[in-house]
Amino acid sequence: MSRLYCATGNAGKLSEFRLAAVRTGLEIEGVPDFKTIPPCFEDGATFSENAIKKARHYAAYVKDPVFADDSGLVVEALDGAPGVYSARYAGPAATDEANNRLLLEKLRGITNRAASFVCLIALVEGGRQRGIFAGRVDGVILDEPRGSSGFGYDPLFYCPPLGCTFGEASEEQKFEVSHRGQAFRSMLARLR
Ligand code: IMP
Repeated sequence: MSRLYCATGNAGKLSEFRLAAVRTGLEIEGVPDFKTIPPCFEDGATFSENAIKKARHYAAYVKDPVFADDSGLVVEALDGAPGVYSARYAGPAATDEANNRLLLEKLRGITNRAASFVCLIALVEGGRQRGIFAGRVDGVILDEPRGSSGFGYDPLFYCPPLGCTFGEASEEQKFEVSHRGQAFRSMLARLR
């Protein structure tokens, strides 16, 4: 298998996957004409439900295998929120800045800052689910953003193994340890 389509409209996710794939000889492309395809409603209760839903939905529009990532931030003191609602925490068309602001408001005065990023990747080929792959990275939510790399909650997420936030790490450093990197490497192992 040499080409995989990635079902996402999130430029940050696609950039991380493509950079990682360069070393593997695998070509990763966004699903062609992604924006013209009717959207997939991510109304599942779990990351895996949503990942499977997205991969199946977009696989109907292309010939090559399609994978979709559903991911988010799980904050211990907020009972797992924002979780599957991470992209739209502050509202349906929320910006990353608005989501980060709301997260900081919700955590004001709370000392338990433990959080994890979780990623589930579903791979679908010819209408059949070929696998579901998981990744998780634990960290701490800071009181204010640090760094401007990455996307989403990256500037607020301090990753102890890196000694910095994901917003301060390079894309390569982040992918080495991230929830998405782990899930992606599991998928690659299955494809080999
Ligand atoms: P999805 O596109 O429905 O999977 O939503 C993913 C959302 O979770 C993103 O829009 C971000 O808000 C958050 N998220 C997931 N992975 C990351 C990451 O690696 N860094 C920062 N935020 C992330």
